[in-house]
Amino acid sequence: MPDQVIGDLPLRDALRGRTPYGAPQIDVAVRLNVNENPYGPSKTVVDDIAASVADVASGLNRYPDREVTELRAALAGYLGHGLGGDQVWAANGSNEVMQQILQAFGGHGRAAMSFAPTYSMYPEYARDTETTWVTGDRRDDFTIDPDVAATQVKEHQPSVVLLASPNNPTGTALPLEVVSAICAAAPGVVVVDEAYGEFRRSGTPSALSLLPEQPRLLVTRTMSKAFALAGARLGYVAADAAVVDALRVVRLPYHLSAVTQAVALAALRHSAELLARVDELRAERDRTVEWLRAQAFEAVDSDANFVLFGRFADRHAVWQGLLDHGVLIREVGPDGWLRVSIGTPDEMTAFRDALTQLEVSPR
Ligand SMILES: *Cc1c(COP(=O)(O)O)cnc(C)c1O
Repeated sequence: MPDQVIGDLPLRDALRGRTPYGAPQIDVAVRLNVNENPYGPSKTVVDDIAASVADVASGLNRYPDREVTELRAALAGYLGHGLGGDQVWAANGSNEVMQQILQAFGGHGRAAMSFAPTYSMYPEYARDTETTWVTGDRRDDFTIDPDVAATQVKEHQPSVVLLASPNNPTGTALPLEVVSAICAAAPGVVVVDEAYGEFRRSGTPSALSLLPEQPRLLVTRTMSKAFALAGARLGYVAADAAVVDALRVVRLPYHLSAVTQAVALAALRHSAELLARVDELRAERDRTVEWLRAQAFEAVDSDANFVLFGRFADRHAVWQGLLDHGVLIREVGPDGWLRVSIGTPDEMTAFRDALTQLEVSPR
């Protein structure tokens, strides 16, 4: 075969020069870079998952339940808020759910909008669905002013608004008044991405409570973070049943494997145990924010399992310095800031020790 490189291919213009999304996967002792849950499932959970997979294995010659009926009902039961299975949809990670949302509600001649800085995958869903990408502004402390947001939404008329709450990479959760103000201004659907919803500080509400009054609101969740199941790939969305019907139109047939469905159902049976660790991580997060501030760093209030901190004149040097001490964090977000995911107490000690040894001072 003749030699060719990607640039020789008849690629869509929007994809020319682009590289696949992803943080560096570096094999070091302490990995605090992709907001994973540091605690793997217990033996009880592992045994139930293994037995559930064995159960479906003998039927793998058949396609799985295309409508994911049992799992959707179980996810609705987990969420509560009076939701039924017809108001929940699931896919391979909430990333796939959001891609489906853009496939259904975005497209050529339409716009998708978020408020920067935010999750760097959002513009990629827009690009891949030929949707125009626009951003509105956050305040300096990364919160959103509801009046400014409503004005910017009216100006851009997006068919999809994506709001991460808690936001990645800042950790900022949105008060319900902000979500309501944006819903009132938006001509299309509004997605609140609650990938880190279970890590909210007490008193921070979930947008799930707005669903009864907002028929075009979608709230996405994932089992990747709080459930410590990033490797299984299961994300889901709660919305009006008509919205779910729209997502079912664009899903690939049999998109969610029988194995994935069985694993997720098994994990949900153990949700109490899996979520028990969330409280430990929330406490560790709050301690990390306090410690960083005590060292004269800035640390953004966080409702997630990570903390954005800084600010550094040369953040790359700090990132590299930590890596040289065996601690991998993420160089992401506005210039000068770094993001650390919350790990085990030992991992956080390693992070604090490494940062102390670098003797960097904030700018
Ligand atoms: C991690 C994350 C997700 C979840 O991705 P999955 O595909 O469910 O693993 C979604 N949104 C944000 C903002 C995230 O940080």
